[in-house]
Amino acid sequence: MKLLPRLLAATLPLLVAGCAGHRSQPAYDLVITHANVVDVETGQVRPNQTVAIANGQIRQVTNTSGPALVSRRTVDGTGKYLIPGLWDMHVHFRGGDSLITANRNLLPLYLAHGITTVRDAGGDLTPSIFVWREQIRAGQLAGPTIYTSGPKIDGPKAFWAGSLEVENQAQIDKALDSLQRLKVDYVKLYESTISREAFLNTIAAAQKRGMLTTGHMPYTATLREASERGLDASEHLYYVFKGCSNREDSITQAVQRSLNTPKPLGLFAVLPAIYRTYDAATAARLYQTLAKNHTAVVPTLYIQKLLAELPETDHSRDTLLAYIDPKIQATYARRLAGARAQSAATRAFNKQLSAKFMTLVPALQQAGVTLLAGSDSGASNSYVYPGTSLLGELELLVQAGLTPAQALQAATINGARFLKADQRSGTIRAGKDADLVLLNQNPLEDIAHLRQINTVITRGRVYSALELRQMVQSIKHSE
Ligand SMILES: [Zn+2]
Repeated sequence: MKLLPRLLAATLPLLVAGCAGHRSQPAYDLVITHANVVDVETGQVRPNQTVAIANGQIRQVTNTSGPALVSRRTVDGTGKYLIPGLWDMHVHFRGGDSLITANRNLLPLYLAHGITTVRDAGGDLTPSIFVWREQIRAGQLAGPTIYTSGPKIDGPKAFWAGSLEVENQAQIDKALDSLQRLKVDYVKLYESTISREAFLNTIAAAQKRGMLTTGHMPYTATLREASERGLDASEHLYYVFKGCSNREDSITQAVQRSLNTPKPLGLFAVLPAIYRTYDAATAARLYQTLAKNHTAVVPTLYIQKLLAELPETDHSRDTLLAYIDPKIQATYARRLAGARAQSAATRAFNKQLSAKFMTLVPALQQAGVTLLAGSDSGASNSYVYPGTSLLGELELLVQAGLTPAQALQAATINGARFLKADQRSGTIRAGKDADLVLLNQNPLEDIAHLRQINTVITRGRVYSALELRQMVQSIKHSE
């Protein structure tokens, strides 16, 4: 039934143009005029720009003072700021088949917050994700473009359901074969039980096949050796932080020695020792290695801070809870219980750690390490709501010391380059996908202006602020 208005919309301007004097069919589906275009690569604003879009692609970007372009629809960008659609480079769709609908209902929240692309960082809903992304591509489902790792690779009896469990080379090859058959966009490693050898060998084998790898890392390994093997991105800051200790070798050996004892040392057991032995010169050397090997870092400051504050924060009245399916809310219980069971000393340490992690960010940026903005939103990650959590991440990246332009890069062009999609996404240029966000105020002046959304455009499809509100209303549940 949507065809009729679309046909009408297509025909009307034709008739009007015909009356005006044999003008041809509109060359563009959409033209945005008089916009301040934010160039995320240079951090500059180009005022009074016209962006012309056809078939979901940006066709040209010119000064509005030129001849008016014939288009089916025009959006007046006067006084507004146009940015590339945002990329959330760490989200999860997961929780088993009973949560498929609940996960699909998260998709509008991303769009409503200006996020037009997400990177799924591993879960157990891969077949559904492939269905959604086809439907999104075909315009049958409203949501961001999705990149996915498919199932995670981990060791035997892995923590997350659906993981591919590897111990030896044959199992690694088999796991990578299956991921290649699935045509996943990259390989995600997880560290709940994987051995140091299997971890490093998986990275090397994936590298040989030309597959991107990202991961958590077992503390039996070092980020330096993972980076040398070809690891493409380190998720979260724990593994970077471990490499900033001037006692990393002895701490790593202690973790290795503890493996076959009744009390193996986990990540959290050795973090205080790492904290005490943090050394700026060691950190600088690690950052140089990461920059040299093009190993990116996904800081996820927002979830880190939220979880550190979870024991004493009451989230029960968060307005966004109304848009999170109760089945997903039920998955929040585990982390909440864990947080409430923490000792006063653990709570205090987690806050110190969260503050310390903030200080790593500008140093990584300065060393030339690629930063990717990711929220870690999804089932099980309590109160990290899709959309607002990425905007919160960008605000924290700026608070940590990045310029708003650098934070924007981490959520646009850096993500596109990382996933080798920068030929068709990540900036506002002719030939790129029309994934755009029109803001009421300049995000380079204050990153919080990303919350002042006027219009979201995804592959040429326009959502006004009102339509975005209605779309989000449609997933509201009554409780
Ligand atoms: Zn995650």
